[in-house]
Amino acid sequence: MSRNLVVQKFGGTSLANTQKILNAASRAIQEKQNGNDVVVVVSAMGHTTDLLIKQANELNAAPSAREMDMLLSTGEGVSIALFAMAVESQGFEAISLNAMQIGILTESVHSRARIVNIATQRLEQELDAGKIIVVAGFQGVTEHDEITTLGRGGSDTSAVALAAALNAKRCDIYTDVDGVYTTDPRVVPNASKLESVSYDEMLELAQAGANVLHPRSVEIAKHFGVPMRVRSSFKDDLGTLITGVEDMEINKAVTGVAADLTQARVVVTDIPDKPGSAAKLFSKLAAENVSVDMIIQSYAGETTNDIAFTIDSGDAQRTREIIGDMFGKTEVSDDVAKVSIIGAGMIDRPGIAAAMFETLAGQGINILMISTSEIKISCLVAKSDAQKALKALHEGFELGCDEIAEVKGDLPPC
Ligand code: ADP
Ligand code: ASP
Ligand code: MG
Repeated sequence: MSRNLVVQKFGGTSLANTQKILNAASRAIQEKQNGNDVVVVVSAMGHTTDLLIKQANELNAAPSAREMDMLLSTGEGVSIALFAMAVESQGFEAISLNAMQIGILTESVHSRARIVNIATQRLEQELDAGKIIVVAGFQGVTEHDEITTLGRGGSDTSAVALAAALNAKRCDIYTDVDGVYTTDPRVVPNASKLESVSYDEMLELAQAGANVLHPRSVEIAKHFGVPMRVRSSFKDDLGTLITGVEDMEINKAVTGVAADLTQARVVVTDIPDKPGSAAKLFSKLAAENVSVDMIIQSYAGETTNDIAFTIDSGDAQRTREIIGDMFGKTEVSDDVAKVSIIGAGMIDRPGIAAAMFETLAGQGINILMISTSEIKISCLVAKSDAQKALKALHEGFELGCDEIAEVKGDLPPC
């Protein structure tokens, strides 16, 4: 059955206290009064997830991934019940549901599981009964009834996946900024708000470290054609539309810049210079579920090569163990950051990479690695240079405006 359905997602800062939960609940009610069915996806309140991680680490320096998922999923469990109560207190019917109750099936991988299916039967039933459904974001369940989580920021992905499964007409991501900006407005206060941005550019921005959206949410939105908006929980504004439509006339080469501080660089030396060496290294990492980002192979000697690549810094210790003594020496450093420029306008426009390298050189910033895609150029730099690089690139590509962006939430306590 086709219905007028809107999925709304509220992030942690939008639910930081009871007043904010009440405000968010009013937005859900408003949407219902507009004649739409409403599914709300909530994150854990405020900085709950950070605090739970801190508590776990106080007890155990290396907690198991299974128990971490059990722990972290509780944050969203609190939010759903409180949110449903807030809706009911305003005279409307609501029901909270967790991933197990709905059947949000994921792969059997802890801490970064991907959703493989969402059962819609229970959801359809509750919507038919006229209720506002409040779903716990970030969590899933495996075929063996184990609780999983989708990775930090994963509630965005829960929301878009639900919107796709239920054929929603829109997925609104409510957060503490009023849209997607040319870069993080906390770092560059005169960043410009984008009225719209294509799925492809948004995906590259999110993967490059613009944590306003979880990358997988954009991937799913693109695949299923779900129209998405990023908008403020605290003011009435349409925010930024994320859409499949590219601007007919792209007059800027670069749409946005981003920095990712969660990278680590791995350098493996003395790899035999013969067919199969790289395959051996990277298949072993793939088998252990380690994602690799930038890769450089350099000629080192008569019979050997060196390979450098980047991974998520959370995988550093595991990667060291996986590679072990497969080849010569392995060095891992997380004292690095990736800065990227993104823009559909750079296709077929020469000189953009050179302009990026000149801007970094002008700041005395050394480039450790480079990678490119059709609409992105990334440079790995020392972590201490990341902010300077981001600001210089934002200014160099003339992305700023005269206004100062308003960001409501505070930064995490640790
Ligand atoms: P939520 O808790 O609502 O999910 P997040 O903290 O995950 O919120 O995402 C919102 C934050 O994303 C903003 O406060 C901002 O600092 C950050 N951010 C990073 N890059 C961008 C960008 N390009 N545009 C807007 N916000 C960005
Ligand atoms: N609560 C989780 C986190 O802090 C998921 C989310 O907020 O999207 O990462
Ligand atoms: Mg988020």
